[in-house]
Amino acid sequence: MGKVGDHAVVLGASIAGLLSARVLADAYRHVTVVERDPLPVGVLDRKGVPQGRHSHALLPRGVAILDELFPGLLAKFAADGVPAVESPAQMWFDVNGQVLGYEGPPEDYPPQDHPGYQPSRPYLESRVRDEVRAMPGVVFRDGCAAIDLVASGNRVAGVRVAAQDGREEVLPADLVVDATGRGGRTPVWLKRLGYDAPDEEQVPVDVTYTSRHLRLPPGALGDLLMVIVSAVPQRPTAMGLLAQEEGRYVLTLGGYAGQRSPTDLEGFLAFAERMAPPHVFAALRQAEWLDDARTHRVPMSRRRYYERLRRFPGGLLVVGDGVCSFNPLFGQGMTMAAIQATILRDSLADGGPDLARRFFTATAKWVDQAWRTGVGADRQILGLPQSRVERVIGAYIQRLQAVSRHDPVLAGQFQRVNGLIDPAATLFKPATVLRVLTGGPRRRS
Ligand SMILES: Cc1cc2nc3c(=O)[nH]c(=O)nc-3n(C[C@H](O)[C@H](O)[C@H](O)COP(=O)(O)OP(=O)(O)OC[C@H]3O[C@@H](n4cnc5c(N)ncnc54)[C@H](O)[C@@H]3O)c2cc1C
Repeated sequence: MGKVGDHAVVLGASIAGLLSARVLADAYRHVTVVERDPLPVGVLDRKGVPQGRHSHALLPRGVAILDELFPGLLAKFAADGVPAVESPAQMWFDVNGQVLGYEGPPEDYPPQDHPGYQPSRPYLESRVRDEVRAMPGVVFRDGCAAIDLVASGNRVAGVRVAAQDGREEVLPADLVVDATGRGGRTPVWLKRLGYDAPDEEQVPVDVTYTSRHLRLPPGALGDLLMVIVSAVPQRPTAMGLLAQEEGRYVLTLGGYAGQRSPTDLEGFLAFAERMAPPHVFAALRQAEWLDDARTHRVPMSRRRYYERLRRFPGGLLVVGDGVCSFNPLFGQGMTMAAIQATILRDSLADGGPDLARRFFTATAKWVDQAWRTGVGADRQILGLPQSRVERVIGAYIQRLQAVSRHDPVLAGQFQRVNGLIDPAATLFKPATVLRVLTGGPRRRS
């Protein structure tokens, strides 16, 4: 792709910022990534990404995009022992109170193009950061916070940044991409420049995560690499046990509406026992615990509707959690950031005016799909009023999940939609609806 500009500045060097920088490096001669934290060398937690200590799963679409943007990266994952979740036998997926997954002969299950991956968050970020750092034209300014936008006419022309010693400077830019996450200040900056802030929708999920890392004796979990037990209205708590690199696991216990696991080991295990399938809990009893419990609270999920703004300055975009900060229990945020990066690449390649409108409109389709799915489930679990459409869709998906257990076609379709490979509309095509309503192949035969 030819260059469309001289300098792009990305604010935030977490997943959304790194993936944006990757695609901008093809379109701009210089890309500066501004990050408030001093960035660690190697695989380490950092202050600006406190969620990094908790389980993170990268959905198949996110994996496919990483593979496309960074050829060879998945081979490095494999070399470092990052487990790839590819077959139903490797997942225990208890959703809506029923264990999902195709139970028929494995050879009938349609092969999936990409597995899901679940490296630790610091590992993922450090490997992606190394790839971006190696790209020509990309410079990192870490230990440096963005404090305001600088405008010229109806465009953003740069960003004011402050180093840790308080020294301020303006970085001029043809494009500024705000990837500073759920706390991102673009709505405030827009108002200061005389624009409206975007409409917001919030769902008060009040989710708390409590996590510990562990090792298990070889074979303790059989083939399982991922155990997910999701919340249900009568038990608004959830657990995720994920195999990570270097033979470690992370166990995350989550709760809605202020429910949270104790942090002491005995209380943590007792909280897990309420949800874990017995064979998984038996394995946990043999665990070697590697660290103390850490907690993280997410008071609300939040969607900011930038695509609805009638006036928006040129030279500015917002990506990642700054657009939509999902309930983490659905594991969508990083994959959505990856989808946004590919849409940014395509929007730049298409050329033409009004980049922001084209970008926000194109991303809204995917963001909305993930947002609506999550919000429907949240409302059901929290006992909040649901629209009739949400109730009907919820009941349909529950039936689809049940039929998928003996219908490999439906199981494969559901897996692709769940992994954000295919749009949710795929599950509502007439042939699929018929399969769901008639109970799949077993009932028809
Ligand atoms: C507990 C928890 C669990 C999650 N689990 C999953 C999961 O399983 N799967 C999944 O896909 N997603 C998950 N997510 C979501 C995922 O972490 C985010 O979607 C992902 O990190 C992308 O966010 P981001 O890059 O937009 O923002 P963030 O990750 O929040 O990063 C923002 C970055 O901007 C920097 N920054 C902030 N302010 C400034 C400033 N003024 N100047 C410069 N830099 C600044 C921060 O230091 C940070 O580096 C989870 C989230 C939480 C909270």
